[in-house]
Amino acid sequence: MAKAIESLQLSPAEPVRGLAVPAETVLAGSEPGVPGKRHVRPPRHLADLDLAERRAAVAELGQPGYRADQLSRHYFARLTDDPADMTDLPAGVRAELGGALLPPLLTAQRELECDGGTTRKTLWRAVDGAFVESVLMRYPDRVTMCVSSQAGCGMDCPFCATGQAGLTRNLSTAEIVTQVFAGARAMAAGAVPGLPGRSGGPGRSGGPGRSGGPGRSGGPGRVSNVVFMGMGEPLANYRSVLAAVRRITDPAPAGLGISQRSVTVSTVGLVPAIRKLAAEDLSVRLAVSLHAPDDELRDELVPVNRRWKVAEVLDAAWDYAAATGRRVSIEYAMIRDINDHAWRADRLAGLLAGRLAHVNLIPLNPTPGSKWTASDPAVAAEFLDRLAARGVPVTVRDTRGTQIDGACGQLAASTVPARAEPDRRASVTDRRPSRGHDR
Ligand code: SAH
Repeated sequence: MAKAIESLQLSPAEPVRGLAVPAETVLAGSEPGVPGKRHVRPPRHLADLDLAERRAAVAELGQPGYRADQLSRHYFARLTDDPADMTDLPAGVRAELGGALLPPLLTAQRELECDGGTTRKTLWRAVDGAFVESVLMRYPDRVTMCVSSQAGCGMDCPFCATGQAGLTRNLSTAEIVTQVFAGARAMAAGAVPGLPGRSGGPGRSGGPGRSGGPGRSGGPGRVSNVVFMGMGEPLANYRSVLAAVRRITDPAPAGLGISQRSVTVSTVGLVPAIRKLAAEDLSVRLAVSLHAPDDELRDELVPVNRRWKVAEVLDAAWDYAAATGRRVSIEYAMIRDINDHAWRADRLAGLLAGRLAHVNLIPLNPTPGSKWTASDPAVAAEFLDRLAARGVPVTVRDTRGTQIDGACGQLAASTVPARAEPDRRASVTDRRPSRGHDR
């Protein structure tokens, strides 16, 4: 079924640049990617597997099933992926299980931070050389990990740096989970400061990385929220993303134990996949990147709109809200003189009034070569007022990370930066983040 959805997306009625992958790429069961470019499939990892599959994998290696549970506790509860630390396993078994089920997947190439160290972007290199980025944001009341689901993106939205780079390939489940794992481990180690004078991370008990310690410096904390708003279109990599959601939200030792309600999957509006997600019996939040209330403009801003129109996307979103009881987040980048007209605010309000929706207005973040800029603040304020006047809940998104190109739509990761530190595998003990901003 997921395959059917992928092929649907990859063969739209009206071909859209970046989506045109030959059908056989999909039918052959390989990862969709740039035609003619070969990618090494990421090695199998513990985080690709559910508990039963882990036991089977351990049995294949001639080990008793409970070894899978031991490994799972180390990885998902203690946030350890170094076999040397797993002293409850016999030494020989440690190396064998570690080699088979905990291969390195992503190597941290570079860390950039801003907002006093509370926002940090990591550039990761996968085993085949593909680059992805993730962003960790520590707020007084929550810690949000923004993860990538694909290397690049095939959706071709002209205002988004990731979209302009095109799709390289889908990430595996474990490559997605690894990004959250790295954030959870940095939080547990107290490696991420809090904002001066504010309290630290969220205090919910249980789950990995919990140790309280709020205070001026933040102290250890835990990742409380995960948003699929990094590189890629999560619903175009449905199976891996869904398994990653389960791994992120299942209680330890099956997964990282983050609440489903604190996970957001953001989409350009792939209607069949939204409908499939609605049937999964999850309570994750859905975000729809709408950006225009009318098909004429949305066809340009979000090219997949040529396949699934505004009305169809919103119908699917309302069905998702009905199935999950969760308010849908409507993302709207405010682009000066393009989509910020008063009549468009009114049109949007007409579509959303009375619905289980919340609008997030995102001041457009600058991307290289883009001719567009953010809306004038007074124009944006009027847009917001017009929505609010019709009773539509609306907020302006806090855009963290613009100085480090870590904000919405700025994740490109297409080139190795000049100051890259090659081949440094992410680990807490060996973490030497480069300080300062990328200016
Ligand atoms: N492909 C998914 C996930 C990416 S989320 C999606 O589009 O929803 C990234 C969010 O940032 C999306 O809402 C996207 O439309 C928005 N965005 C992209 N480029 C932006 C930019 N330059 N400024 C502000 N928001 C942007």
